[in-house]
Order: sequence, then C-alpha cells, then structure tokens
Amino acid sequence: MRENRKEKSKYQEDVSGILINYNDTSVHKALTQFAEILNVANQVSRDNFGISPDLKWITIYGIDKGGFNAVYPQGIGGNLWSQQYVNDILDSAFLNNPRLSCQFPDPVNAMLHEYSHLYGIFPYHKWMSTESEGWATYSATRLSKLLFQKYGAKLWQPAYDYARIADSISEALLSGRPLVWSHPEEIGAFKMWNNYEQKAGLQNVFKNRWQYASRDEYAVFVRENNPSVVNDFINTIIGQESFNQVSTLPSKKYDDLYKTDDWKIIGKLINISDDEMGRHIGQMKMREIDINVPEPKQNAAGIESILMISLLLLYVFGTFKVRTR
Ligand SMILES: [Zn+2]
Repeated sequence: MRENRKEKSKYQEDVSGILINYNDTSVHKALTQFAEILNVANQVSRDNFGISPDLKWITIYGIDKGGFNAVYPQGIGGNLWSQQYVNDILDSAFLNNPRLSCQFPDPVNAMLHEYSHLYGIFPYHKWMSTESEGWATYSATRLSKLLFQKYGAKLWQPAYDYARIADSISEALLSGRPLVWSHPEEIGAFKMWNNYEQKAGLQNVFKNRWQYASRDEYAVFVRENNPSVVNDFINTIIGQESFNQVSTLPSKKYDDLYKTDDWKIIGKLINISDDEMGRHIGQMKMREIDINVPEPKQNAAGIESILMISLLLLYVFGTFKVRTR
C-alpha cells in the first residue's frame, strides 16, 4: 500500500472502463491486460459479494524499482520491477512450467493482491502489516479462483493456470510459509480469514470485513488508532475463541519462514545475484518474526504516532523502494 500520489504520465487510454496511464511503451502490453483483470475483478466482486472496490485506474510508469502498490481509494500505481519481469509474465513456457513457484509474483495473483488492499484497512495501526497483508493475499487467492471459474486460463495472455498458483499460495500460507513478495507477518491473518470462511462462507468474509474497514483516500497514514473497532469486529464477527487461535501463534525464526531459493526468485527479477541474496538472507536467519494477529489494545498514543510519521517519511524519501508488497 502507499499514499495517494498524483503524478502526470505521458500516455492515457481507456481499457474496458479502466483508465491506464504509462510513460514507457514497453509496459503497454502487460498493462492493458492488468486493466482487463481489474475490470473483471470489479464485476466478479460485485456479482458474488454485492460489494466492490470499483477500481478506476492503474498507472504503471515503466520499468523501475519498487513494484506496484494499491493507491486509495480506487487505483493502483507504480512500476514493473525489471525487463526480466515483463519478459517472464509474457512468456508462455515460463508461466506454464509446472514447477513455477507461487513465490514468483505471477501477474494475476500479484495484481489481485494489490487490488484486495482496496477493500480497505482496519483503523488500527498494529493490523496494518499483519491483518492487511494477510487479507490481501487471502482475498487474491479467492478472487483468482472466481475469475478462473468464469474466464478460464485465457484471461491472461499467454494463458496459464493462475488458479493452480492461487491454490499453492493458500497451501504455502496455511503451512506457515509467507510469500516473499508480500509480508512475513501475513500468516496469522491468512489463517484467520481461511477459518472464518469455513465457518461462515466466502460471501460473509467479504461482506463483513467491508463493514469494518475504511477506504478513504488518507486511510493509510492519517487516521486515528482505534482498537475499539477491532474489538467490536472480533466480538461480533470472528469470535474471541477463534481469534485467540491466531493471536497467540508463537513467533518464528526468519529461517523457518523462508527458503533462500524463494528469495533468489525475487533476486533474479531485481538484478541481485544469488550470492548477494544468499548473504543478505543469511544475516536475517536468526531474526524472530511475529506472525500472529495482534490483540487490540488501547495504547499510549505517542509511540504509535511517531512510528507512523517515520513510516510516512520512509515512503516519501523512497527508502522502501526495494520492498515489493
Ligand atoms: Zn500487500
């Protein structure tokens, strides 16, 4: 996710009611297809759940660091990581390789992840990279399956089985393996929504979360920190007992969450050698990572606000550019 930024782009075009913006014509083919996916995601969401983020535009400036991000309330913006990435997502043999790992950000599931952020976030800071990332990954897999049912493999050209990849994302998350292109803290929330779906059905997942989440333009950075909304959500929707199962998950070592090979997939996309990536991951090995969904607590406002301001500054100065969320 990132703050709303209004930058001018050279070219604009309407693709099935979605406005696409770009500077670099080498992303045009992929961008047109992203717009098609987003258009049908709007429809499938409306038809199945009665709600939709109603995304209106996508801007892919060109090929550069940083990846693409959800932009509240109704857009997606950013770059494609590298020419290698553009080549891969337009390469039939690559996408149809049965060994293609879900740790590669395949175009349909990766775009649906960003799209899913537009269903909104809870007004509680501690849920921002936990619940919101788990939700985005979870929701993307479900939307992906619904799109596949209706439009099949040909929704993306070259056609590939993005529903198979959605299934393997689910499997990975439920066995405690986060996606290298998302966030390690997403495991608990993925489980929470998966469990709730089994209890209440997919339609209630989307409808009920929508009631509690915010989607205003400044939702990400400028908001009150309101644990009572989250408390109400847990008591009314998830149930305290089910919530306890995901709020008490023990932390994990970085090494238990990721395989170095998973990171090499990303390394290839952003021109980091296997050796360099191996060294970088080696340094993280013993780090403890929280994977639970935090219990909502009324906290002293000070520290949270300072943290948010620092995050905002990091975004503004682009320190996060290598992160792919
Ligand atoms: Zn995300």
